[in-house]
Parts: sequence; C-alpha cells; structure tokens
Amino acid sequence: MTTLTRADWEQRARDLKIEGRAYINGEYTAAVSGETFDCISPVDGRLLGKIASCDAADAQHAVDSARATFNSGVWSRLAPAKRKATMIRFAGLLKQHAEELALLETLDMGKPISDSLYIDVPGAAQALSWSGEAIDKIYDEVAATPHDQLGLVTREPVGVVSAIVPWNFPLMMACWKLGPALSTGNSVILKPSEKSPLTAIRLAALAVEAGIPKGVLNVLPGYGHTVGKALALHMDVDTLVFTGSTKIAKQLMIYSGESNMKRVWLEAGGKSPNIVFADAPDLQAAAESAASAIAFNQGEVCTAGSRLLVERSIKDKFLPLVIEALKAWKPGNPLDPATNVGALVDTQQMNTVLSYIESGHTDGAKLVAGGKRILQETGGTYVEPTIFDGVSNAMKIAQEEIFGPVLSVIAFDSVEEAIQIANDTPYGLAAAVWTSDISKGHLTAKALRAGSVWVNQYDGGDMTAPFGGFKQSGNGRDKSLHAFDKYTELKATWIKL
Ligand code: NAD
Repeated sequence: MTTLTRADWEQRARDLKIEGRAYINGEYTAAVSGETFDCISPVDGRLLGKIASCDAADAQHAVDSARATFNSGVWSRLAPAKRKATMIRFAGLLKQHAEELALLETLDMGKPISDSLYIDVPGAAQALSWSGEAIDKIYDEVAATPHDQLGLVTREPVGVVSAIVPWNFPLMMACWKLGPALSTGNSVILKPSEKSPLTAIRLAALAVEAGIPKGVLNVLPGYGHTVGKALALHMDVDTLVFTGSTKIAKQLMIYSGESNMKRVWLEAGGKSPNIVFADAPDLQAAAESAASAIAFNQGEVCTAGSRLLVERSIKDKFLPLVIEALKAWKPGNPLDPATNVGALVDTQQMNTVLSYIESGHTDGAKLVAGGKRILQETGGTYVEPTIFDGVSNAMKIAQEEIFGPVLSVIAFDSVEEAIQIANDTPYGLAAAVWTSDISKGHLTAKALRAGSVWVNQYDGGDMTAPFGGFKQSGNGRDKSLHAFDKYTELKATWIKL
C-alpha cells in the first residue's frame, strides 16, 4: 500500500495542473473550434478543468499528422529492436509517473486510488513493455513454393490506426491498444472517453519524452458523436480499434461500410455468468470471488461476474456467504488508500444503475443486499454494491449489461441447465465455473460461448493470453501475440527465381 495518506492525495489533487488540450503532431493544442467541455470529478462533483472538445477539423489534423509520420518511415520503418527499446522506455515513464497518473485516473473516473496505483498504471505499463519486448522476436514466413519461386509471407503495419476507448479503465484500455499498435510501427490517433480524458492526454507527452517521434501518437479528447464519428468515417484511417458498448460497436461497423471499409476491431460489452456447482472445492473462496467479481471497479468492468448461477442444492448455504463477503466492499472516498469501492463515473451512469435496481424490484427479484445511493453529502456518485436473489434469466437485470455493482443470483438444477442459462445472452465475453470435478470443469468450459473462461477462480489472466469476446461481445483480441493481427496486414510477395 502507498505511504501517501488521504490527506497527501487531497493536497496533490488541489495542486494538480490539469492539461485539457488535444495533442497533435507533438504539441498540445486547443480544439480548432475553441470549444471545451467541463471535466467533473465523480469523487465530489468538483470541476477538474476544461477539456478541448475536438471535432472533425481536429480529426483531420490528427489524421494528416499520423499519415505523414507513417509515410516518412521515421517510426514505421525503424528497426524493431529500436522500437522495442522506445516502448520499454515509454512503459518506464508510466511507472515513473505512476502517482501522477493514478491521481488523474481516480479524480477523473472515481476508482479507488489504490486500484489506480497498483492495478491500472502497472497494467498499462506492462501492456506497452510486453508488446515492445515481443516485436524483435517475431519472424515472418517463407512459403512452400516450387523450386523456381520464392514466396515471402510478411506482416506490415496497417498505417493509421484510430483507437476509441471507454472510461472504466481509461489508461489500461488505451495501452492494450497502444502496445501492439505502436510496437508494430503504426501511427495512432487515440480518442479517450469524454468521461475520462485526463490520463490519455498526459500519456501523449510521455510517449514523445520516451522517444516516439512527434505525430506518431495523437490524442483527441471529445465526444463520440463528434470527433469519434469523424475518425470512424475518415477515409484515411486504415484501422479502427474500439473498446466500449455493443451499441456503439455496431454503429462503428456501419461507419466503416459507409466510408473506406477500414478494418474494425471491437471489444464490447458483457453479462458474464459465474457458475457455482454444489461440488465447488471451496465455497468460501467462491463467495469472496463472487463478491469481488461484482464490486471491483464499482462493477464497471466488462467481465464483471454479474450473473451468479448457483446450484439450487447449495443456494441457501452459499448466498449468505456471498452477502457476508460483499460487506468487505464498501464505497468510500476514492482518495483514501484503504477504499476499495469508489464513485460511479458520473451522474448519468449512477442514474442508469439506480434505474436497473428499480427494474429488479419491478420484475419481482428479491433485494438481499445494498440497493441505494449513498454518500450523497459528498457531492459524489456512490451506489451500494447490490444483490438480487430469485432472478430469472429473462429479467432485464439478467439480460442487459448494467455496468455497475448489481449482482443477479439465478438458481439451476443440472449441468445442462447451468450451461443453457449461461449461454442465454447476446454477449460472450467471460464466464467462470466452480467445481471439484475436473471433467465437469473442462466440459462446462468447452460448452460456454465466451472468450475467457475461468475455472475455480474469477478474472485471472495477464498479457500472455488473448482477451476478447464471442457473439456480441466483439471480434478480434487484445493482449498476447494474437493482438498483433489487428495492427498488421498480411502480404504475400512472389519472387521468380
Ligand atoms: P461507449 O460505447 O458509450 O463509449 C466508448 C467510446 O466510444 C467513447 O470514447 C465514446 O466517446 C465513443 N463513442 C460514442 N459514440 C460514438 C460514435 N457515434 N462514434 C464514434 N465513437 C463513439 O462505452 P463506455 O460507456 O465508454 O464504456 C462502457 C462499455 O465498454 C461497456 O459496454 C463495457 O462492457 C465495455 N468494455 C469492454 C471491454 C472489453 O475489453 N470487451 C473492456 C472495457 C469496457
């Protein structure tokens, strides 16, 4: 745990100079229109600063800058070993500025400072260095050609990449894209969420400080329907990588079809099942894990374990353990290092979460924990971690992604029924299975239509394994070497000998 106290963080928050301008071609710059929007902290409603509200004119400048640097070869044709060294320096600068970045992240989107400092910033740095370290260890192919031909199968950077990212892990989601995008030699325009632009804006200058040439990484804060849409429709953006909601993901595919058929890679929403069989090896561990799976990051996690499927024979024993475990997850001031649940990102998101809680009541589910807005006097947006029992999978709270700390408990009677309920969702991002029976664990994992499946744990993983969704949770994968596919084109070159 950090040696800084809540008072230290408060002091640093007061001293903080917020940079709210866009970053284009290595310079901070106001939006062409001169427009700004307010950046309000969900911690206590304070105004953090004015942020450049970029639109199509700024997108044009950023794309021009990205295209020019890409074509110049200053980064795209740099030896992989040199790109590697630069990416490792970039990651090092994130770690060096960890406290500053963590504070920006916490003030901007409300997550606990200890999470920002020990999860988000190191995770972001790791995404940059892991991809950088890999880039001079990947080999291309020589095809099995006839004697008088040489067939080279090579990967090239796609060119200009636009990355549009969400607000729940602003820095980490950005770096999951930037690691492989930059390491493979592309130029990038990063558009952070209008709800959490601060760390992305800071990141741009750190990239240049690390030695990434000016113009290779540009950052455009602004709204989705203005600058986001302009980037998605731009004729000179080669690839669009996105993390966000399924609704916007579908829209981006339309924009691609309406413009230049840019490649579109989507990491979208989830409604993940956490299946606890009666023979789970450790019910206490399963209960604690179920609680953290819905309360961590205020439930604003794409892989949140938001549907807890419990075998009916153990439900009366198991649910009290979960309710008890959830008591350890208490909303508090995010600048207090002991806090493990912070504020929801803004008033709009809080109202969305509260309206889902209302719908749980209306549909006849039974509230057994939480259910209310709290700490209203702080001016922040805090909601108690909440559990509904007696949920049927057809209810709205079981079908729709709430993106907040609301858990739906659903009982089942057989393996087949558990699998059927688990897969009965438009999403397919993640799932977990708890059992002592190795065959049952494997067979259930195989039957689950999800990009990540955990057995006897929830939310494991690191940079070595791909992350992404089946069905309407998206396409393509972040993390691991598989992520490189999104940022490279495959070329076959035939040489007549
Ligand atoms: P969102 O879809 O509302 O916004 C995501 C980004 O898209 C933002 O930067 C936003 O400004 C931009 N955007 C909005 N409208 C746009 C438009 N018309 N054109 C171009 N860009 C537009 O999502 P959010 O609320 O920021 O984030 C929450 C969602 O992200 C959840 O659904 C969550 O599951 C998902 N998510 C997925 C993963 C994953 O890896 N699968 C990870 C984190 C979050």
